[in-house]
Amino acid sequence: MSEAHAHFHERRVVALCGGVGGAKLAFGLAQKLGENLTVIVNTGDDFEHLGLTICPDIDTVLYTLSGLANRVQGWGRADESWNFMEALAQLGGETWFQLGDRDLALHVERTRALKAGVPLTEFVAETAQRFGISSRILPMCDDPVRTVLDTSEGILPFQRYFVERRCAPKVKKISFQGAEAARPSQSVTDALQSADLGAIVICPSNPYLSVDPLLAVPGLQALVQAAAVPVVAVSPIIQGKAIKGPTTKIMDELGVEVTSAAIAAHYADLIDGLVIDSADSGEGEKLPIPVHAVPTLMSSDEDRVRLAGEVLDFAAMLASIPARQKAASS
Ligand code: GDP
Repeated sequence: MSEAHAHFHERRVVALCGGVGGAKLAFGLAQKLGENLTVIVNTGDDFEHLGLTICPDIDTVLYTLSGLANRVQGWGRADESWNFMEALAQLGGETWFQLGDRDLALHVERTRALKAGVPLTEFVAETAQRFGISSRILPMCDDPVRTVLDTSEGILPFQRYFVERRCAPKVKKISFQGAEAARPSQSVTDALQSADLGAIVICPSNPYLSVDPLLAVPGLQALVQAAAVPVVAVSPIIQGKAIKGPTTKIMDELGVEVTSAAIAAHYADLIDGLVIDSADSGEGEKLPIPVHAVPTLMSSDEDRVRLAGEVLDFAAMLASIPARQKAASS
């Protein structure tokens, strides 16, 4: 039995997660931990479209953990059809955001539930159960938080920037509308304050667009800091490049060096250790925090599970070193 299995046998793990990149590691963690995993997911990408409330990161996590995701396309469901989009185009409707027929059912049902007063947390829990997912999936909060970008083309809501403009505008500033008034849900608070908590993992999501919105919810960052367990982040950067998406473009535009060192600096107040790619191990030696250098590219399910195991082993190792334990635990 590996160290991680021994340590996390009856401990819970919380993962902070965005969409596609984060969900890959969340899948691996879910295979290892099952019901002992809680994934807290970014809702800053959520938006209202065609009268529907759409939660892209939550849906990516739901589809990925249940095996329903379209792995070739990188978003949405496998085995999808597009009759609704074709009919919508014929009517002259807005088609810049693609909604597959099966995917559409989730948005319709969620919108109905929210309108009936069901909290998003409850709807997501029920959907996860229906999809056969044993891990817990929690929205970062039940209050609306919306990521907004100040760009070279003016102020853009997240999906207009990300999907419609394909991340082309230059980003000057990112803000999270509604965050100040938002509060972590009771489920998020309970997960982070659980006496059985063994580690917190920050998935290799985009730090600026996927993890920062979570940390912008007042109280959530404090809960992570107060937890007396190792907090481990996985870098989304491999050899100065992001696997997908605008992470490095945004780092450039915000004047941040595209390195795992910059990721470590970004999370400096939060993390006790950083997992970086073995190709960047030289860079890791210079970091002021413990670093675990392993292959971090997740091309297959095996890669995801293997990396999850490495992350848990690293967290278990950090937990076993008293000097590394957080002040709150002493
Ligand atoms: P989004 O909300 O769908 O854009 O997804 P996330 O924010 O969760 O993930 C985007 C980040 O995931 C990018 O910065 C990618 O570099 C990173 N990423 C994607 N796949 C991998 C992978 O296999 N390994 C690592 N280390 N990072 C990855």
